Amino acid sequence: MDQYAVIGNPIAHSQSPRIHAGFAEATGQVLAYTTRLATPETFVATVREFQAAGGRGMNVTAPFKLQAFDLADATTERARRAGAVNALKFEDGRIRADNFDGIGLVADLQRNLGFALAGRRVLLLGAGGATRGALLPLAAQRPALLAIAHRDLAQAQALATALDPDVALACGRYDDFGDAAFDLVINATSASVKGERPPLSPRVYAAGALAYDLAYGRGLTPFLRHARDAGAQHLADGAGMLVEQAAEAYAWWRGVRPDTRAAIERLRVPLV
Ligand code: NDP
Repeated sequence: MDQYAVIGNPIAHSQSPRIHAGFAEATGQVLAYTTRLATPETFVATVREFQAAGGRGMNVTAPFKLQAFDLADATTERARRAGAVNALKFEDGRIRADNFDGIGLVADLQRNLGFALAGRRVLLLGAGGATRGALLPLAAQRPALLAIAHRDLAQAQALATALDPDVALACGRYDDFGDAAFDLVINATSASVKGERPPLSPRVYAAGALAYDLAYGRGLTPFLRHARDAGAQHLADGAGMLVEQAAEAYAWWRGVRPDTRAAIERLRVPLV
């Protein structure tokens, strides 16, 4: 049976085995998808061991997306620009790598939530791995403005260098965006998993705005609660992004793109 796995730390909470088992069933394919726990010290050996045992591919989650990029023999353009990968494919003894996080986010926004990015004002919070992956696919949709807010300005500016010069871009600390109204505010920080929220002004939300938290399965996070109280009209969590990036990896590995609706429905928890 073809073997796949997701590697991370922690990993027990991962929904990926469930999502991929559902995809396999829905597409009539047979595969095994398990989890691998690693540390920064054991990451490379764990991937190599899985590959040597005949593994076909892996998903990579926090905190190994940068290490996985370094390990890969071949990467896509978008992975190189992000400097991080979340999917590996083992072929002919080589490791190919790609990053589907950003296109998963864009697919969820545009296809599932009906939010067209072109011409809109978008604020991205945080400057970690998720922001790296999201930046280029978001920019490719030609928003009117793509802004990055982070507590360390230099870090946000460093990420922005990956973008083409014709992208309308702004980088700042959180209080630099106190009065700027955005159509979409994306929380790409890990604050929600700690029960915290980025220090954002309630005035960042334009009329009809969407607040999107990359965290999922947590209900109304402090970020989403703040957004709702600040008047954001639409709220969404990252369940759809998770499933969409998984579907991209599945299509890359297996040659068929599964429908994502059932998996999103299973993962969705009410935002109340
Ligand atoms: P990283 O650890 O790489 O980055 C975390 C970022 O959050 C850093 O920029 C950090 O800032 C910032 N941060 C942490 N706490 C706070 C806070 N209280 N206030 C402001 N900023 C804060 O994580 P990732 O980028 O990999 O992941 C971020 C989130 O996205 C996680 O919740 C993760 O689960 C989620 N995610 C969801 C996906 C999905 O498919 N739905 C896919 C990928 C990620 P600093 O550098 O200053 O510490």
